[in-house]
Amino acid sequence: MSTHRARKRFGQHFLTDPGVIHAIVEAIRPQPSDTIVEIGPGPGAITRPLSRRAGHLHLVELDRDLVASLKMEFAGQDNITVHEGDALSFDFRALGDNLRVVGNLPYNISTPLLFELLAQRDVIQDMHFMLQKEVVDRMAAEPGSKAYGRLGVMLSCHQFIEPLFDVPPESFDPPPAVISAVVRLTPKPKDACVIHDEEHMSRMVAAAFGQRRKTLKNALAEFANADQLLAAGIDPGLRAEQLDVDAFVSLSNALVSKPA
Ligand code: SAM
Repeated sequence: MSTHRARKRFGQHFLTDPGVIHAIVEAIRPQPSDTIVEIGPGPGAITRPLSRRAGHLHLVELDRDLVASLKMEFAGQDNITVHEGDALSFDFRALGDNLRVVGNLPYNISTPLLFELLAQRDVIQDMHFMLQKEVVDRMAAEPGSKAYGRLGVMLSCHQFIEPLFDVPPESFDPPPAVISAVVRLTPKPKDACVIHDEEHMSRMVAAAFGQRRKTLKNALAEFANADQLLAAGIDPGLRAEQLDVDAFVSLSNALVSKPA
């Protein structure tokens, strides 16, 4: 493990701080009944303590050298399955349901990965991730703040977002250029946020924040005119960052239910 040279293209920054590793595992609180999926186990810093407490542990790792050493190290443990593959195209549903998904994620793919996991949320019980602090801030941002945007709106519709603690660069080898943070995501009740057409909502929110300094009337011209915004109770002169999640959902639902 110590002989593995970190590969930049795989976003490899390995956790070395025992206190941080302990804090992450305590935040997850693995139980013998849990099926846990760890994304990007790397040399196994979190994997080892998880494996002692989880029921079954699935590891999804892209780097085939690391896959080989994980397979060797855990060969005798039948509660661990090592999958060589890309988490971005991984079929989590194939592992069952009630999954607990965890990982010190490769920061270069964290946003698309979060969207992919959101698409498979029906089989996920909760998620704990280490991410760039800036991404965690965006996930948890409230309307009116600079960090509030597409990621926060789309995630917080379905999940409670709970930033847990920050982690400094020195806790990793090699140290990343940014501060990191650990976040917990737990699903909201199914009826908390009913979106009639997820694809429409996603495109509309992307358009609204794609030109975040424009008014909604201009940024959403492709989706709604001023009258339709007013009919949904939205002032066309507002900007995207002033609209809360419920307002985006109501607008999208109102627009897709309208006959063409
Ligand atoms: N969990 C280890 C730790 O905390 O020390 C490693 C974390 S490192 C930040 C990210 C890990 O994700 C690396 O092992 C890297 O090879 C792996 N990885 C990168 N891209 C991946 C992908 N698309 N799918 C699965 N694993 C990936």
